[in-house]
Amino acid sequence: MSNDILSTTSSIDLQFDKEHLWHPYTSMANALPAFGVIAADGVELELQNGTKLIDGTSSWWACVHGYSHPKIVAAMQQQTAQLSHVMFGGITHRPAVELARMLIEMTSPRLTKVFLADSGSIAVEVAMKMALQYWQGRAKPNKQKILTVKNGYHGDTFAAMSVCDPEGGMHTMFGELVTKQLFAPAPQSRFDDNFNPEELNEIATLFEDNHQQIAALLLEPIMQGAGGMRFYHPEYLAALRKLCDKYDVLLILDEIATGFGRTGKLFAYEHSNIEADILCLGKALTGGYISLAATMCSDEVAQGVSDSPAGVFMHGPTFMANPLACSAAIASLELIRENRWQEQVSSIEAQLKRELADAIDYPNVKDVRVLGAVGVLEMSATLNTAELQQQFVDLGVWIRPFSNLIYIMPPYCVTPSQLSKLTHAMKTVARQVSLPNDASPFISHG
Ligand code: PMP
Repeated sequence: MSNDILSTTSSIDLQFDKEHLWHPYTSMANALPAFGVIAADGVELELQNGTKLIDGTSSWWACVHGYSHPKIVAAMQQQTAQLSHVMFGGITHRPAVELARMLIEMTSPRLTKVFLADSGSIAVEVAMKMALQYWQGRAKPNKQKILTVKNGYHGDTFAAMSVCDPEGGMHTMFGELVTKQLFAPAPQSRFDDNFNPEELNEIATLFEDNHQQIAALLLEPIMQGAGGMRFYHPEYLAALRKLCDKYDVLLILDEIATGFGRTGKLFAYEHSNIEADILCLGKALTGGYISLAATMCSDEVAQGVSDSPAGVFMHGPTFMANPLACSAAIASLELIRENRWQEQVSSIEAQLKRELADAIDYPNVKDVRVLGAVGVLEMSATLNTAELQQQFVDLGVWIRPFSNLIYIMPPYCVTPSQLSKLTHAMKTVARQVSLPNDASPFISHG
């Protein structure tokens, strides 16, 4: 292979990319141009024409410490040289053991067992499989349904799609292959508003009527991400924990987007003071440097799985607990443990609230929401992502709207002036955009 292919100075063949490479949620027949990135450092992405963009996305919630962080880079370089991959069947290694130890220490006491999966969607699949095997081990094999709430997003594999919002298109596009699950209305009370207990009526009835079939309740704690970027009331989640206990249903929390500080708590479930039986983590787990996810569960769940007729948990991917990914995660969690994130996220939250508040007066803006290091402008109609993408690049930032949302979740190390540039760009685009009247039903965070 010529060194040229790895060189950061040779240009990226954007035409070849357009003709041959799938990007998330795109059409090959009608491909949109992609921006060629050659490097990233701190909070900045560098395009191949030399333009530097302030990143408002953390590469989809993942790069919480920014790019090219020396500590994570060094950990990965050292690990690559020593042991970049080895099968996990019958073999273990220090990065997996130390990572599991850290995760157990950082999460709530009930979570003591760790399955290291390859991506967020797989962590969700693993959680659902654990729940079903658990009930087989507890002699309740009819408990096979997952109860969830509307507006959720949990990934693109088949089981994960089955619990995504039913209006999101995935349920109709793939017909019988997407299992039918039980859907309650989406949470209604806002995070910082009064809680209306009546919103629990319908989900309580679903529990009451179907608990003999329900293996688990699965949802995103506090923040529904790709299903609409909404922040709901902590009491809602606390009440769901009680319903799970009352009806003998496991609680699976999908913290893939919210985990590791994003909402102002280390884990979003801490806003509600509850524990999950099964917890899914991903994205920021490695600081966004390489794909890795984790599904954690309680002793009780693990014991139930072992008591199931299979006697073992039926999942074991090739790249399970990849040492390189585990070592990136250890370095990232060490940075989290230094605890600067808390101060960083709370000052991002305060600045976002200050700088986005007046956007509520813009004619096209329907709602302004901020929680932790997440800022959202909800527009009154669906946006044209490709068109707006160029406008954001022209304003010197990387922000990728989807559906009717202009939103940011920057790396925690963003400076106040970088953050101001991001909020300024959000408001400029929100003020200028002319909106079509359509309302695409499909979730697409791509
Ligand atoms: N759950 C949530 C809450 C997510 O936000 C995502 C990704 N956006 C996933 C699951 C799926 O993760 P992945 O894309 O790594 O498969």
